[in-house]
Formats: sequence, C-alpha cells, structure tokens
Amino acid sequence: MSRVLVIGCGGVAQVAIQKCCQNSDVFTEICIASRTKEKCDALKEKLKGRVKTEITTAKVDADKKEELVALIKEYKPEAVLNVALPYQDLTIMDACLECKVDYIDTANYEPEDIEEPEWKAAYEKRCKELGFSAYFDYSWQWAYGEKFKEAGITALLGSGFDPGVTSVFTAYALKHYFDEIDTIDILDCNGGDHGYPFATNFNPEINLREVSAKGSYWENGSWVEVEPMSIKREYDFPQVGKKDMYLLHHEEIESLAKNIPGVKRIRFFMTFGQSYLTHMKCLENVGMLSTSPVLYEGREIVPIQFLKALLPDPATLGSRTVGKTNIGCIFTGKKDGKEKKIYIYNVCDHQECYKEVGSQAISYTTGVPAMIGTALIVSKKWDKKGVFTVEEFDPDPYMELLNEYGLPWVVEENPILVD
Ligand code: NDP
Repeated sequence: MSRVLVIGCGGVAQVAIQKCCQNSDVFTEICIASRTKEKCDALKEKLKGRVKTEITTAKVDADKKEELVALIKEYKPEAVLNVALPYQDLTIMDACLECKVDYIDTANYEPEDIEEPEWKAAYEKRCKELGFSAYFDYSWQWAYGEKFKEAGITALLGSGFDPGVTSVFTAYALKHYFDEIDTIDILDCNGGDHGYPFATNFNPEINLREVSAKGSYWENGSWVEVEPMSIKREYDFPQVGKKDMYLLHHEEIESLAKNIPGVKRIRFFMTFGQSYLTHMKCLENVGMLSTSPVLYEGREIVPIQFLKALLPDPATLGSRTVGKTNIGCIFTGKKDGKEKKIYIYNVCDHQECYKEVGSQAISYTTGVPAMIGTALIVSKKWDKKGVFTVEEFDPDPYMELLNEYGLPWVVEENPILVD
C-alpha cells in the first residue's frame, strides 16, 4: 500500500506507470506530474477503468524546487520516482530532502547548460582529476549522502536498465557465481528497426550527448579515455545475431568501480548501425548537437533542442519498431580458486512491448526497472538510509521481479568473450 509521485510523462514514464498499475498491491495511488499536464491526463484516460491504482495528475516544473515542494506537501507521497530528465535530478532531490520522502531515478545528474560557470569549474576539475570528460557523473548526487542519511530517507540512483539492471546483474553474479570479479563487459544491443533513416529511441538530447562524447573505461584503478567511437567490436548476440558495437563512457562504470571490490576492468559497449553513425557525425559537424544557444532571427535557439523538435518523438516509435534488444553483462573472475566466466542478459522484443504497453523496448526495459526499484524502496524490502546505486542492495528480490514483470534473464556459462 503506497502512494507515489511520478515526475515526467515521456517514453520511460509511460511504461513505468503502467507497470506500477500492474503491481497495484504495492502502488495503490499514483500522481503523474509533468511539465505538459495534457500528457499525464491522456495516460490517466487511457488507463481509466482498466487498473486498480488510483491515478491523479498535476502540472509541475521540476526545474523549480518550490513547485515540487508544494506538490509533495499537497500529495504526501511515500516516494518520488523521477522519470523526467537528468537535468532535474538535483532539484527533485532537494525537494525530497526538504519533505523527507524517498527518491528514485534512472539516470545521473547532468546540467542542461554546460556553460554555467559553477558547474563548468567543477567539471573541469573532475576531468583533470579523474580523467573522463562525460558531462554526467555521480559526484553531484553522491554529495547528498550524509544529508539523506540524516533525514532518514533513501535515494536510489539509476534504476533503469543500464544503469540499473546491469548493476543488479553484477551484484547477483558476485553473490551467487564468483568470489571475485575481474572484468565486466556491459553489452547493450538494440537489434530493433523503426524504419526511419534517423531517430533516437530515448530522449534525443540526452541520447546524442551520450553517444557523441568520448569513450572511456575503467582499468586497474583509473579511467582510460578514447576518441568517440574509436573502439569497435563485433559480437554475436543471442537471439539477435552479429552486430557492430562501440565502446562508450557509461555511468554505471563509475559506481561499479567503487562498489565491486577488486574489479580490474569495466567496459561498456553499445551497438549502432552505420546509418545512425553517419547521420550523427553529419549533425555534429554542422553544429546541430550543440547545447549552446545561437541567435536566429532575433531569438535564441539551442541547436540540439531544435533538432529534438524535428526528430520523431521516441514515445511514438513503438508501433513501427520490430526486432529485439539484448542487454547484459559478461563477467570473468574466480570461484573456489578456479577461473570462471558467465553472461547474464535479457532479450526483449519491441513488438511484444508494444502489444503490452504501447511502447518500444527501450522505454520498456527502462520503465520496468524504474517500477521495480520504486517497489523495493516503498515496500522497505530495500531499506538503507542515504544515497545508493542498485548494486549496493541484495539483488535477489530485484531479479525475481524482473522475471515477474516482463524482463526475464538468462545466465549463460562460458560465453564468448569480447577481446
Ligand atoms: P522523454 O523526453 O520521453 O520524457 C521526459 C519527460 O520529462 C517528459 O514528459 C517531459 O515533459 C518531462 N520533463 C522534462 N523537463 C521537465 C521539467 N522541467 N518539469 C517537469 N517535467 C519535465 O524522456 P525518456 O522518457 O526517454 O527518458 C526519461 C529518463 O529516462 C531520462 O532521464 C533518461 O536519461 C532516462 N533513461 C534511462 C535509461 C536507463 O537504462 N537507465 C535508458 C533510457 C532513458 P514534456 O512532455 O513537457 O516534454
């Protein structure tokens, strides 16, 4: 029995909310609040008469802490699930802290404006000290650790698929299969086809920023940074087939490096087709991926936001996308003194997701874990005060709920490794 405030009503939120409604013993009441209230109302209408969860809606600008605080005080939720954008992480955490309610999200903080002087100074210091230059990192949210602990509340960071399930897979591998893990390769394969020459399958701004950034991996206690898309491998994914994949920086590398004792190397690979890469390079070369405003006919526009307005809305790709995703982790390490390797992955079918919730598999594979993380926090099955990533809790209940709520996983012994 719980009351949860969900912030955002985009692709991921729409799945998370429908999954919360499937789990109505835990989620008895939900308030969907977002910038565009019409989207919240439309989803409420779609679910009317079909679910037991009592749904209300609200308008909120999550960039404004005061608006969030007022809404939380009025609705009095046990937890806030942030499935808006990473830009809003800190304002929502501030509001949760003030109102003493638990917080869950799916992506770590990054600023909307990367030219903002205070952020930029901290960023440049971090690039120099840690050696990776992605715009996002955990430092901003980890800084809330003591404050959340003192307030007696929990922040669960990164409960999507990657980060999220990939980190739970890691905790599960360590608990049940290894005495020590030496290497982790996280492989994110989207074998789906939406039929457009170019579209992103989650928020274009966040997606394009991530993909156009330098790649990096963790090795022997430090970061190794490489040029964007400069490390390419081919892998034969179960149920999808052979795909080219590229090494990217990804946020769970940072938390796993901190939380998995003795891990020697962590890499993240994502598959991309040549058409996607060619379009992205072209857009980047002409300046369309820039987040800095330009003056156009007397008004400021941000190129990447303008591009977002032109691209298909990821929430509308569901009906057109066919094929499967395969996301998982290959682990090597030791058990009882012997070398061991396993691959834990989930395969998700775009059209099956569409039939069930009207979304493609990328929103689905993120929305389901967002619901699961929230369910474990509000039901107190995961109960620690402070700021945590998912691998810091017992993985077993999460793994069970993945099977139950549409993301079954496979453990394959002796997989082919990535060289
Ligand atoms: P969308 O762009 O589809 O949805 C974002 C939603 O947030 C929209 O409803 C938007 O409102 C709302 N929003 C944006 N700004 C504000 C604001 N200031 N106040 C209130 N609401 C706001 O994004 P996705 O659903 O694709 O992604 C959601 C999150 O999931 C992102 O943080 C993304 O990084 C993360 N993600 C995580 C993954 C993982 O595996 N961990 C994978 C994929 C995504 P409006 O309708 O007005 O635009």
